[in-house]
Order: sequence, then C-alpha cells, then structure tokens
Amino acid sequence: MTVPHWLFGDQLGPAFLSPGEGGPARDAPVVMIEARSVFRRRRFHRAKAHLVLSAMRHRAAELGDRVRYVRAETYREGLREAVGRPPLTVRHPTSRAALGLVRSLSGVTVLPPRGFLVPQEDFRAWADGHGGQRLLQEDFYRWVRRGHGLLMDADAPAGGRWNHDHDNREPPPKGAGTLGAPAPYRPREDAVDDEVREDLDRWEREDGIRFVGRDGPRLFPATRREALAALDRFVERRLAGFGPHEDAMLAGDPVLSHSLLSSSLNLGLLDPLECVERAERAWRSGEVPVNSAEGFVRQIAGWREYVWQLYWYFGEDYRHRNALRHHAPLPEWFLELDADAVGARCLSTVLAQVRDTGWTHHIPRLMLLGSHALQRGWDPAAVTDWFHRCFVDGYDWVMLPNVVGMSQYADGGRMTTKPYTSGGAYVNRMSDLCGPCPYRPTERVGERACPFTAGYWAFLHRHRARLEGNQRMTRAVRGLDRLADLDELLRQEADRGDGPP
Ligand code: FAD
Repeated sequence: MTVPHWLFGDQLGPAFLSPGEGGPARDAPVVMIEARSVFRRRRFHRAKAHLVLSAMRHRAAELGDRVRYVRAETYREGLREAVGRPPLTVRHPTSRAALGLVRSLSGVTVLPPRGFLVPQEDFRAWADGHGGQRLLQEDFYRWVRRGHGLLMDADAPAGGRWNHDHDNREPPPKGAGTLGAPAPYRPREDAVDDEVREDLDRWEREDGIRFVGRDGPRLFPATRREALAALDRFVERRLAGFGPHEDAMLAGDPVLSHSLLSSSLNLGLLDPLECVERAERAWRSGEVPVNSAEGFVRQIAGWREYVWQLYWYFGEDYRHRNALRHHAPLPEWFLELDADAVGARCLSTVLAQVRDTGWTHHIPRLMLLGSHALQRGWDPAAVTDWFHRCFVDGYDWVMLPNVVGMSQYADGGRMTTKPYTSGGAYVNRMSDLCGPCPYRPTERVGERACPFTAGYWAFLHRHRARLEGNQRMTRAVRGLDRLADLDELLRQEADRGDGPP
C-alpha cells in the first residue's frame, strides 16, 4: 500500500508533493485536515481565516480524488477519520507546536521542509561557526547569495555592491499622495470563497468562534495560478519602482511598490527561489534597476530566510523573552482594531489598513504599530500574538524573530543591534501621515504633543541604564539631558493611561 501524505494548510504548492528523494510517493494519497480548534484558540482576522480556508479548499479541489479532505475539531480527530492508523508521511511543519504534534504520533515520518532556501543543518553550521558572536543578517545574506549564485558575477556582487539600502530609503514624493505605481494583481473570488464566507458566518453565529477585522473582497492569491499571476504582475510592472520608496508611507497609497507576495510565499504557493530568480532575470535583461532587484532579493533571500532560520536556531524559550520587562496588557482599542477611536493620524490610518485588509507593509508594522507597543511597554508575548492573529501572512515562525526580536527588543539585542523606535520626526520625514494630524511631530509636551515624540523620550528615559551602554544609542540617550521639560513630559506620559492617542 502507498503511504498517505499529510499536507498542512501552509504547504499548498507543488514542491510539497514533489516525489523523489525525501518526498512522498508519486501516487501517495493526500490527507488535508481543516481543524476548527485552530480558530477557536485564537481570534484571527477574518480575512486571514478566509484566505487560509479558501487556499486549502482550492488545493483540495485541484487534487480531486487523490485527496481526503476532513473537517474536524482537532488534527488528531481528523487524522483518525482520514487514515485510521499511520503509517503516514508529512513535510516538516512550520511551527514548533505542529512539529511536536507530528513527532508525537507513532508511525509518522517527517520529511525535510520545503519553501525555504537553506537546509537547517547548514544554517546551524554557519551560525555555530560564528563562535557565539552576534549573528548579522548582512553576513547571512551574502552567504546565501554566494551559496545560491544569486545576483553574483563570479565571486563579486552583480551591480558592484552587495547592499543598495542607501538608494532604497527615500521619503515619498512630496505632495503626490500616491507613488503612481501600476495596480497590483487582485484575484477574483469564486464559489469556493462563497462557501468559505457562509461557513465563517455560521461558525460565528452558531459555534462561538470569533474573528476580528473585516472580510472584504479577497485581496490575496489562494491558488498557485493566482500566485503566479501576482508574481508576474509584480515583476513585469511594479518591481522597477520597488527599491527607492521601500520605506515610505502614504495615507492614500498603502501598497506603494510592495509585492504583496508574503501570504503566497507563506502558504507555500510560491517558492522563494522562483521569486528571486525572476527578479534577477528582470535586472539582467535591463527591465529593472539593480537597487530594486537587490532590494527585493534581500527581503526574501536575506530577511525572510534569516527569520525562518532564527526561529529554529533560537529555541523554544525565545518566545518568552522579555528583556525590557514590559508587562502592560494590550488595550481594547488596539485589540479590536478600532482605528476610528484613534486621533493620531498615522496610527489610525495604519490600524484601519490592518482592520480592512490584514496587511500593511514593513515600515508601518515596525515603526508605527510595533514602535507604539514598545513605547507603551506592552507585553511582547501579547504583541506577538496580536500580529500573528491580525495579519494575513502571520505564522509562528515569522512572528517570533520579527516581533520578539526585531520589533520589541525583548531578546535584549540578540537579533538587532538597537531597538527600532523613533519620534514623530521620522514618521513625518518618511510619510504624509502627519499632515492634518491633531498632534505635531515637533511637540513633546502639551495638548499637541505627538505620542511618538513624547513616547520616544519616555522610552529612552525608562531604559536609560541599559541603552546608554549601546554604542548605537548613546547619542540618543544623552539627548535626554538637553530636555528642559523632561519631568513634565514624564508626568504627561504617566497620566496618559491606555486610551487611544
Ligand atoms: P515586500 O516588501 O514586497 O517584500 C518581499 C518579501 O520579502 C515579502 O513578501 C516577505 O516574504 C519577505 N520579507 C521581507 N521582510 C521579511 C521579514 N522581516 N520576515 C519575513 N519575510 C520578510 N512577514 C510575514 O511574512 N509575515 C508576518 O507575519 C510578518 N510580520 C511582521 C511583523 C513585524 C513587526 C515586522 C517588522 C515585519 C513583519 N513581516 C512579516 C515582514 C514584512 O513586514 C512582510 O513580509 C511584508 O510587509 C509583506 O508585504 P510584501 O509581501 O508586500 O513584502
């Protein structure tokens, strides 16, 4: 008998079923399980629940008679119904919890992971080879470029430089309101989406399952075909403008030139190698400038890959790190994505983007949502859970390094050299969000005090002892000594409470 193969809901592309060495048998029957307990445990964004279920059901429809698709309360129940008793094969899941589950089942063979560029043992050898020194993403990224021959001319970086970040941090064009990039690919919903919506309505009505956010028209690909169309559209029409304004924010143009491919990559619908190779080909054929191609390759072969590897390398305890001892709970308005309750225009705009789409690009995630949480001293585990639930591309592996490490500095600097937070001046320089805001980025006390400017100084003051020993923060921390109104600012911040700014 051919051993059946279990596909998780983020293993939906062809690579996960490809036979051959380390793969399932060519004709292996496939098992897919829709476990409702997943949605009971966490209050997900409804657009995310919709996307994942739509993608799973579309994949099942493609596989036809080959798949046994079971709707069950838990994975264990679903497995019992689908195959009775193992043997079974499964690809290495993407979370520690799921890996623990499949390893606890006797007769289940765990096959090597798919969807990433570097085998975990190779990364471990690379990281251990750094002899306990701080790991640097830039070193890792160059190692991946060399190893995969990505954007390389023999031993040298193609285009003359490894890093084009300097060209990729431009503020948005003044007064334009939009970058004017060609529109991104948007899928068309079908009967599978209708069925998913009906099921989600019923779960909410009859089953006590709760969601957050709005489930508008589906914005992200649910099938390989849609994901490939999105990749084509991005590379052909939008990649050229990706680089320069990567870090900019515009109220009326939340997507700018970003690819919107994260959910497709994380569902397994796209393979990272095909994405970066497409970008490199576009540069070599003269269709896009090198800073845009390199910027995109860095995001995928550098950041995404690094985050995946660190999730496993840092170990299970990493999720509990809380170096800054931040324990405040997340306030209701943030949990409910209540953008209308927020006066600060930047935060309100971005929270509305999350509420309406389950997506915003990396700078609003880091420098608005994450930075505000850091300045307010919110519990990093709760912030991690919030990002995981509220973003269409959120998964455990991608959350921990990005939120615990990068955004909340809860690992005390293991992942980044300094906390990522700023005052309103940065937001003002990189966006058009300050414009009609009731607060002024230059003011730190009084009625018009910008919550980011005041929050920044209060954060530096609170963690002065730790941060002044950090070379990259010394100057900023010493700036506290020049603030004649520091006492007033600290009183104001202490009185602020947890209401929306
Ligand atoms: P683009 O800007 O077009 O970038 C291309 C691709 O690079 C993305 O699709 C993504 O696959 C990859 N990428 C870039 N940076 C990262 C990174 N730091 N980690 C992982 N992949 C990266 N990304 C997620 O996929 N899921 C998340 O839940 C997530 N949460 C984040 C939370 C915080 C606090 C921060 C700072 C970043 C987070 N990111 C996450 C990374 C990044 O913000 C998103 O990948 C990106 O905004 C998705 O939009 P895009 O596809 O248009 O990306």
